[in-house]
Amino acid sequence: MVLAFVLNSPFILHGYRVNPANFDFHCHSAVSDGLLPPAEVARRAAVNGVDLWALTDHDDLGGLGAAEEAAAEAGMGFVPGVEISIEWKGVPIHVVGLGFDPGHPTLSGGLEELRSGRVERAKRMGDAMAAIGIPGVYEGALCFVTNPSLISRAHFARYLVSIGIARDIPGVFQHYLTPGKPGYVDHRWATLEETVGWITGAGGVAVVAHPGRYRMSGGDMRRFLDDFKEVGGQGIEVTCGSHSPDHIMHFARLARHYAFHASRGSDFHGPEESYVDLGKLPPLPEDLKPVWRLVI
Ligand code: AMP
Ligand code: MN
Ligand code: MN
Ligand code: MN
Repeated sequence: MVLAFVLNSPFILHGYRVNPANFDFHCHSAVSDGLLPPAEVARRAAVNGVDLWALTDHDDLGGLGAAEEAAAEAGMGFVPGVEISIEWKGVPIHVVGLGFDPGHPTLSGGLEELRSGRVERAKRMGDAMAAIGIPGVYEGALCFVTNPSLISRAHFARYLVSIGIARDIPGVFQHYLTPGKPGYVDHRWATLEETVGWITGAGGVAVVAHPGRYRMSGGDMRRFLDDFKEVGGQGIEVTCGSHSPDHIMHFARLARHYAFHASRGSDFHGPEESYVDLGKLPPLPEDLKPVWRLVI
């Protein structure tokens, strides 16, 4: 109890009082597939009571400058972040990087290469949808893209809902955009080793994003976490927008087992499109080591 109190007691960061119990280290802006510009995401986080925040756009660092500025204006602590798309033994997995130097050339170069394959993949997704009788989907998805170098399945989903192909975003993913479904196209993402190398090489901390969302057996998850730790990963999201109370308990156990630091992130994409709003998550189980301790 005393230890938990020390770990979670408020502290002063850049002159601001920070309550680490309300950190939110996973969310998106219009620089990737979120709906709001980075500064608006920052303001919304601050209004929601977040006082230590990271913007973690997919594969792109372009929003970090505006995010940091808006966070400072709102009196909120800020940590640079990114969510990187990888593939491990054929399974698409996301790794969040936190607290790195955004100007580090190996990280920004690696991300640039990762982004460059997205347009070609998106065109193939358009072809795949045309093959089942739904033409013009690539062009339609482009109307929802806010950063031309970052087209994601989320943009396809928004377009397909807008033309009435499915009632809502989860429905489109379920019927068209997930592995085995007609609009899903494989892609060569980054490897686990290179991704964690980019993050740690830039002075940051690598964290497994939303582990409860991967279709993996318990044994494969442990093998993945063994590999993740082996290459220098240090954290895992325990409390996140897509985790049930059972997931939180399960991944808290794995965090203890691997001596990982625990992260907490809403995965907010937009006001009507997210499991949970910024900062509106349950707290981390008190005995876990919160990941913010590694990045401030
Ligand atoms: P991509 O990086 O192009 O593969 O797109 C992945 C993005 O699609 C994720 O970051 C989410 O924003 C969104 N997404 C993936 N699966 C789902 C789902 N089942 N329901 C809603 N959104 C999803
Ligand atoms: Mn997304
Ligand atoms: Mn993700
Ligand atoms: Mn995300």
